[in-house]
Amino acid sequence: MKHLFKKKEVISENLFNDSYSLPHSTEYPDEEVIFSVKNFDFYYDNGLKHALKNINLEIFKKKVIAFIGPSGCGKSTLLRCFNRMNDLIDGNKKEGEILYKGEDINSLNTILLRSKVGMVFQQPNPFPMSIYDNITYGPRCQGLKNKKELDRIVFNSLNDVGLYEEVKDNIKHSGTSLSGGQQQRLCIARCIAMSPDIILMDEPTSALDPIATAKIEELIRKLKEKYTIVIVTHNMQQAARISDYTAFFMLGELVEFNRTEDFFAHPKMKKSEDYISGKFS
Ligand code: ADP
Repeated sequence: MKHLFKKKEVISENLFNDSYSLPHSTEYPDEEVIFSVKNFDFYYDNGLKHALKNINLEIFKKKVIAFIGPSGCGKSTLLRCFNRMNDLIDGNKKEGEILYKGEDINSLNTILLRSKVGMVFQQPNPFPMSIYDNITYGPRCQGLKNKKELDRIVFNSLNDVGLYEEVKDNIKHSGTSLSGGQQQRLCIARCIAMSPDIILMDEPTSALDPIATAKIEELIRKLKEKYTIVIVTHNMQQAARISDYTAFFMLGELVEFNRTEDFFAHPKMKKSEDYISGKFS
């Protein structure tokens, strides 16, 4: 995969090394910091829209971190900064830094970064191809051809999202023929096939019915044994149910970051308390 890199891009061994020792958080010493956001600002429209203001935040390894806050407060913008999806938007500008395993993400190759930092969107978006091909698409793009290895990845990825038993007889059927909830789990399996460290989820259940939502929530709780998960949700109850830490945003600012149970039981900030008690939305 080395041919995919540009000269000035870092090909850090850390990114591939699972035993790379991450720094511990100062405020939460039990936690290992996989992403560190420092004095980070983000603007759209050539600087006219200041979407994120001086964000300082740590994302902890193998934990679920929920981003909550009123619509338009910058949750999705920050999520999309972690794998540099926002770089694709014309007129974007950023200041400050985001470090992934100690490397400034701006110096990383975006293909590699996005393989380690996968993303799942609000609307399930399987590719218009078979279930098997959806899962093997990424590994094949990286040059993997060995059929046995591809089969193994398909089995493991589908198994991890609890979809294998449901689709094992229809693996060559189109991914788009599945139900909404199954499609979303297929999209998560597609991320997993790339052996990511982190899965970013942008309101992954907002298009799903309550049963499919419950399955995804159960899956998120299970996935954190292997992966770090950052989830944007407009549903406070969902944040309370599934996350270990909550980051609450308003008007582009990070108002509070706290352990989820503390955030909901004893918020530190008046704005958090008002938001939790429904005084504004
Ligand atoms: P949230 O996820 O909290 O609803 P967003 O991150 O989507 O908020 O948006 C934060 C702010 O940035 C909003 O004011 C939104 O209108 C603006 N914004 C989001 N995407 C774009 C874009 N592509 N171009 C211009 N402004 C945008």
